Amino acid sequence: MSAFTAIRIDKDEAGYRADYAQLADGDLMEGDVDVAVTHSTVNYKDGLAVTGKAPVVRRFPMIPGVDFAGVVTRSSHLDFRPGEQVIAGGCGLGEQHYGGFSQRARVSGDWLVHLPQGLTPEQAMAIGSAGYTAMLCVMALERQGLEPSRGPVVVTGAAGGVGSVAVALLAALGWRVVASTGRPEEEAYLKDLGASEIVDRAELSTPGKPLQKQRFAGGVDTVGSVTLANVLAQTSIDGVVAACGNAQGMELPTTVAPFILRGVSLIGVESVRPSLPLRRMGWERLARDLDKGLLARMTETAPFAQALERARSIVAGKIRGRLVIEIG
Ligand code: NDP
Repeated sequence: MSAFTAIRIDKDEAGYRADYAQLADGDLMEGDVDVAVTHSTVNYKDGLAVTGKAPVVRRFPMIPGVDFAGVVTRSSHLDFRPGEQVIAGGCGLGEQHYGGFSQRARVSGDWLVHLPQGLTPEQAMAIGSAGYTAMLCVMALERQGLEPSRGPVVVTGAAGGVGSVAVALLAALGWRVVASTGRPEEEAYLKDLGASEIVDRAELSTPGKPLQKQRFAGGVDTVGSVTLANVLAQTSIDGVVAACGNAQGMELPTTVAPFILRGVSLIGVESVRPSLPLRRMGWERLARDLDKGLLARMTETAPFAQALERARSIVAGKIRGRLVIEIG
């Protein structure tokens, strides 16, 4: 049995804690594919997991890390062979099943997809669950028939991981993007990604009237709470808002007014369940539609030794864009 390094979260009489640990292959959970992990990434949920700020971890001990990319080392799954490059994300990784902050992973092959053509493992992790979720949000707007000719779309939490990818994708698809951020110093960064206008997030994060001036054809909301209520109140007739996050809070203090008086649609987006066709379609779209130069500009890379500290800092809103962790 070969030893490897992972971050392990424990919760017992000594408290809730996360630290680096030496594990052996025999410590891994069930799965028909073993992967030598080369890259992972820090998502907001990983920050919640390592800090214990929200109960995202469902069993202990747990290896956090919602996403990983790596090379298959053993497989009894028909779709995968040793030496193939794969990615995984969601599917309970880092919550119910050991995740990607580990040099080795053992998972169900049903949770894996081959590394999409045209993407390196680093790029796939620069996208990660955050970018995949942004893509699902954009696809949700498209499914509802929303088109750039209808007017501007707002992206909340724009300087965060999901927000940054959403801004870049929507702008590339021809939308006029209004980026809402609490970090005015990131104006140049957001405009570089394609935002046409920046709004101070305070404009949206304090309580407002149930119906307000119609400003947006729709939006991608990563923040929830009062911000989402205000986005709905400022969405024009028959507009569409895709909601995927709760960085401001879980609650949604709104009324039915935007829905019954303006025909606004609120679409929930989640990226965790292993719907393979949707996953493949989302990744194909990302490989095609996301500008790789912009992806590089929104991405920072850190060694595995910094993963724990960086995961803690994401919940403090201190990470801009996406952060790739070099594991192997
Ligand atoms: P990040 O921390 O990278 O981004 C979150 C952003 O939200 C911050 O950068 C900040 O943007 C903004 N924000 C933070 N706190 C507040 C606040 N109190 N009020 C208003 N805005 C705030 O996280 P991710 O991009 O990785 O994730 C964003 C959200 O999406 C999270 O809630 C996460 O749980 C959720 N998510 C959901 C998924 C799903 O399947 N539904 C999958 C992936 C993520 P700025 O600095 O620009 O103001």
